[in-house]
Amino acid sequence: MATGMFIIEIIPLVHIPRNQVQVLSYFHGEMLKVGAVVEIDFNHRKIRGVAVVSEPLKSRKLDFKKSVDFELKNISKVISAEPMVSERQLTIANWLSNYYYAPLGICLKTILPPFWNKKGYKNETPKNTLSVKQTFLMVAENIAGKYFMEKYASEKPVYISSGLKNKEYFDVWNKVAAGESKLIIGTRIGLFLPFSNLSKMIVDDGSNEAYKSDMTPRYNAVDLARFVANVHNSEVISSDVFPRIEFPKSASSVVVRKSPVDRSVVNMISEIKAGNFSIFSRDLQDEFLKFKIENLKLILYIPRRGHANFILCQHCGEALKCPNCNVSLVLHRQPTTNSEQLICHHCGYSGALPKSCSVCKSYQLKPFGIGIERVESEIKKYYQRANLKMPTLFRLDSDSVKDERDEENIINDFLGAESAILLATQMIFSHKHRLANNLQIKPVIGIITADSLVNIPDYKTEESLFRQLTLLAGFGKRLIIQTHDPENPAIKCFAGGDVSGFIKSELKNREELSYPPFSRFIKISFKHFDNFKAKREIAIVAEKLKQVLRGDRSRFDIMGPSPAFISKEKNFYIWSLILRDKQMLELPLDSGAAEIKTRNELLRVVPGGRGWIIDIDPRTAI
Ligand SMILES: [Zn+2]
Ligand SMILES: [Zn+2]
Repeated sequence: MATGMFIIEIIPLVHIPRNQVQVLSYFHGEMLKVGAVVEIDFNHRKIRGVAVVSEPLKSRKLDFKKSVDFELKNISKVISAEPMVSERQLTIANWLSNYYYAPLGICLKTILPPFWNKKGYKNETPKNTLSVKQTFLMVAENIAGKYFMEKYASEKPVYISSGLKNKEYFDVWNKVAAGESKLIIGTRIGLFLPFSNLSKMIVDDGSNEAYKSDMTPRYNAVDLARFVANVHNSEVISSDVFPRIEFPKSASSVVVRKSPVDRSVVNMISEIKAGNFSIFSRDLQDEFLKFKIENLKLILYIPRRGHANFILCQHCGEALKCPNCNVSLVLHRQPTTNSEQLICHHCGYSGALPKSCSVCKSYQLKPFGIGIERVESEIKKYYQRANLKMPTLFRLDSDSVKDERDEENIINDFLGAESAILLATQMIFSHKHRLANNLQIKPVIGIITADSLVNIPDYKTEESLFRQLTLLAGFGKRLIIQTHDPENPAIKCFAGGDVSGFIKSELKNREELSYPPFSRFIKISFKHFDNFKAKREIAIVAEKLKQVLRGDRSRFDIMGPSPAFISKEKNFYIWSLILRDKQMLELPLDSGAAEIKTRNELLRVVPGGRGWIIDIDPRTAI
C-alpha cells in the first residue's frame, strides 16, 4: 500500500448550504477507497464522512477544498476502510444534489438505509447475471402498495416503505442485493434499494402529488425513477389515469383509459332559480329516493373537512382568521353534542366561535362553504324530512378515522354493504385501486361542489380538478357534478369526455404564459417571523439575480417576489419568487450537464440557511 501524505476528499454527512463547497479535503497517511467511511472534525464537531477521492499530496495543486478553518486537518478516524457506499449510491446522491440544488451530504444520507454502517450491513453487489430479472413497482402510498401485494401475492413480492422496522428493512435490502427477489413493491424509498438486476420500473399513479418530497432534497420520485432506471440500464413504465402535463414526455407516453361513465353537470345557480335551496341538486335527490326501491351505492365527494369552510362577518366582510396563520378558520361541529369549534387546518389552533366580529363588533357572523360534516347533517335531515329510512352512512375523512386500517375497514364495509352512502374527502383517492376494481354494484358519485377545487389561484388547479374527476369517474357508473360555474373549461371538457381536448387547451394556455412544460419553475422562498424582514430578504435576492442576469432574459426570468398564497403560517411570514428556466425543458439525466451548472451558479446568490427554501419543480407556483 502506498504511504506518505494523501489528500482525501470527503462528503461530510451533514447539511452544508448548497452555495458552499460540498466536498472537503482532509489529510491522511494512506489512500482510501471510494466509499470508505471516516470520522472528521467539522466545525468543532466529530461527524461521519464518506471518502470519494484520494490523491498523493505531491501531485496535488494547491486548490484544497477547505472547511471554514484555513488549515487542512487530518482525518480523525477511519471507521470502515472497506467501501460502505457504492458507486451507484454516490451517482444517485450526486444527481439529487445537483438537480435539486440540495446539500450533497443530506442527499447521500437520504439514500442510505437506516442500518447503514451498522453490523451486518451488506453493500450492494455488482450486477449479478445469475440474478433473476427484477421489477420494482413504485406506489405513492402504502394503501396502494398493500393492494398490489395482495394482487400479485402469487409472485411472492417483497414490500419496502419507510414504515418498516429496521430488521424488516434489512431483510428486504439483503434479498434485493442477493437477487433473490423478483418483484419488489414499495414507496419511493425503494428507489434506493441495491437492485442486483433491475430490468423494469413501473410507476403507479405518476400524477399523484405524494411523490414529491416535502423535505430536503425536495425530489419528485417519478423523475428520480427515470434517473435511477437509467443508472441501472432499465426502463420505466408509467401507469396512470391521467398524465402529468408539466412534462412534455409524460403527457404523450401515458395511455389514458376512458371510462364509459355517465356524466352530468348540474348548475347550482339554476337550482336556486328553480326554488331548490338545498345543497343537493334535484338530480342527486332523485338518487337519494332510489334507495327506497333498489339496492344502491352512493359516494358523495366533499373536498373540504369540517362543517363550514369559513365564517364571514356580514357587516364588514372580514373572515375569521387563525391568530398564527393567514388562513380562515374552519368551523367543526360535533354531530352528537352539536358543540362547535373553530380549527386552523395549518397549525392546529382551535378556539370557540366568538359571539361577535373582532373588527367591527357586529353579531352577524355567518358560516359559508360546505364541509363534510355539513353534508353529513344535511343528509340526515333530508331523510328525516322525507320520512324515509336512511341507508347506512359511512364517513371517510381525517377527523373521523384513526389510521390506515380504519380507512380500509370503512372502504370494505361500504363495498360489502347492500345499500350504503359513503361521504369522503380527498382521502378516498388513496383507495382508488380498490374502488376502481370493485366488481359489485357500481356506485353513483356526487361531487357536492366542484368549485371548491378551483378556488386556488395556481396554474395547476384545473389540471388537478380534471385529474380528480377522472379518478372519481373510474369508481362508479354515473357522476353528478354540482357547480356554480358549469362553463369552467375543465368541467366542460370532462363532461364531454374530451381528455385530449383538455390537455390541448391546457398546453395552449401554458405555452402562451411560458409555464411548465414550456419552462421549469424554481421557487425560492424565505420565511421569517418579521414580515418586513421576510419581504426585504427576498427582494434582495431578486435584485441580485437580476444583477447576475444583466437583463438577459433568454433563459431565465423572474416572477415576483410576492407573499406566498398562505402568507403567514405558524407565525412565520413567507415570501417567494419564481425563477423561470425556459431552456432546460427535458429532465437532464447527467448531473454534470452544463445547463444544470449554469443554473446552480445563478442560485448561489440565495443565502441558504435558516428560513430559505429552494424548490425545483415545486408542486405549486403560489
Ligand atoms: Zn365585522
Ligand atoms: Zn393556524
